[in-house]
Amino acid sequence: MSKHRILAAIAILAIGGVLLAALYPRTVILDLIAERARTARVKVETVSIGGTRLPAIVVGKRKRVSIEAVPVFPGAILTVSIGVREDVWDLDGDGVLFQIFAKEGDERTFLFSRYIDPKSRPEHRRWITVDIPLAEKLQVGYGLPSRVGLVLKTSAGFRGNKRNDAAVWANLKVEKPGLSWPSFLRKRPPNVLLLSLDTLRADHVGAFGYHRNTTPSIDRIASGGIRFSRAYAPANHTLESHMSVLTGLYPIAHGVRPGSGKRREIGVAPLSANRVTLAETLQARGYVTGGFAYDCVWLNRKHGFGQGFEEYVVSRRDSAAMNDHEIFPWLDAHYNEPFFLFVHYYDIHSDWEKLPYDAPDRFKSKYQKSYSGTFDGCGGGVCATRYLMRLDTKDRPFAEPELAYVRSLYDAGVEATDFQVGRLVDKLEALGVLDDTLVVVMSDHGEEFRDHGRFIHSQIYEEIVRVPLIFRWPSVIGAMGESLDPVALVDVMPTILDLLGIAPEAPIQGRSLYPYIRNRVIPPTPIYLVGRGLDGVVQWPWKLIVQGKGGSSLYNLEEDPNETVDKSEVHPRKFRELRRMLLTWKNDTSRFQEGQRSAESVVEPSEKDLDRLEALGYGS
Ligand SMILES: [Zn+2]
Repeated sequence: MSKHRILAAIAILAIGGVLLAALYPRTVILDLIAERARTARVKVETVSIGGTRLPAIVVGKRKRVSIEAVPVFPGAILTVSIGVREDVWDLDGDGVLFQIFAKEGDERTFLFSRYIDPKSRPEHRRWITVDIPLAEKLQVGYGLPSRVGLVLKTSAGFRGNKRNDAAVWANLKVEKPGLSWPSFLRKRPPNVLLLSLDTLRADHVGAFGYHRNTTPSIDRIASGGIRFSRAYAPANHTLESHMSVLTGLYPIAHGVRPGSGKRREIGVAPLSANRVTLAETLQARGYVTGGFAYDCVWLNRKHGFGQGFEEYVVSRRDSAAMNDHEIFPWLDAHYNEPFFLFVHYYDIHSDWEKLPYDAPDRFKSKYQKSYSGTFDGCGGGVCATRYLMRLDTKDRPFAEPELAYVRSLYDAGVEATDFQVGRLVDKLEALGVLDDTLVVVMSDHGEEFRDHGRFIHSQIYEEIVRVPLIFRWPSVIGAMGESLDPVALVDVMPTILDLLGIAPEAPIQGRSLYPYIRNRVIPPTPIYLVGRGLDGVVQWPWKLIVQGKGGSSLYNLEEDPNETVDKSEVHPRKFRELRRMLLTWKNDTSRFQEGQRSAESVVEPSEKDLDRLEALGYGS
């Protein structure tokens, strides 16, 4: 063979290898269905669902399938496809609840739960494939077992159709994650800028469809990356939302929540030291970490926000002065090493002095010129935010011209903040690191202008929980435009880590959005919301809001994006399904709270538990 043929062969092999690694990033360690078929311990037959035939485990009358000695190793992923046989799709009944538990001795750990209802949900008339982060789920404070048993459990029809043999499990495999990013090709890891613009509702951002040109800088970031137009904050509160971003956990799980009464302005607990934040994970990988947050009571060290930051500055300055005096000097000192920079600008948030939203004159004046009324921010001896809140508590009307003016003042704050976002991006560019920086832009919650009868952000309607979410990293993400997949801020941390090829060091509830960034279709997951005395769940296009005393309501966001018509009586089945989903989730989530890991009742609520929970404020 001639020399150039050998070289060509080597080149083809090398290119092929890289392509293969990119196309098949995972390795199947064990195909549990093939294995069990060989040992004949479970019944396997080929089942066709929605046009796809797969060898599947048939559950039969026993409802449970046990599989022994499943290997566990760092990063292990359990994948499974679940489905309901076509011949029962139109029978009466309520669908099937699929659950998976891991078994170590007497202890059981909840791994997965999914409710499939092909009768009322056409999107369930196919195989549904999920990835379960097996290693992560089993790692809570106990080290990692080398082998576990699995229990696959199905409950068919909460009432009505009890046919259990209709539920089938396929594609049950244990996999090893591949390289999600070929890091060996890079000289150094990318920097990460996580930018939180407090109180920015998505629909006041140009890139998310706003009619005013409030956000040219944010729009420019969005045009070079991917924007998620259906991104949800997990809470309507600064403290809870930000901690969810930095831990990948919902507020119930991370536990850093505002107190009540006299403790209203203090969180009930700091972040537990054994939680692992995004900053800690990156710091452990050699990143220099800097956090700059506005001193709004919440984002302080006492709540645990300093965890993992080499330098964490809580500032009384506005975004312009934060840039000049704190952030830019830090960047000058650290741009030459891989850095994680967390920035929290607070200028959009409502103010407390005179006008409810105040901004530098050059942003405010054009709106003030077009307002001819007498509203000056005060009334009845109080001003600004206090005045708006008093109007709410006394149920006072507020005329449309004034409302429009208040919205304009808010927009002036958005513009002013956007200007500083532009300066920060320009700074990265001037330092020559912009394109080597993964830029993430988000907000912790939106703001309401009497859209649903109130001011500020105390409810969980779309204007309060729908926030901008943008990822930009030109070499990996590219200009992807808009994603309409419903996502949550708990997904931010796993997405950043996935893009960087770093495994999370602790359990996370969010999921990586990298598949969306790669244009893959993955099934949506429900998104959960909390407020004070409020809960909600979004299962697009449906959204359920449960109010402690005020009753519950169901909205179809596709038909009724402004949430004006409660559909709970027209769609009682959907209403019940979402309510149950919310209850089950709250129960499952308590698994993430410390000290409750082994109690089986926590991970698998009985009908009695669910009834009791309903009696405690979830009554219909
Ligand atoms: Zn906030």
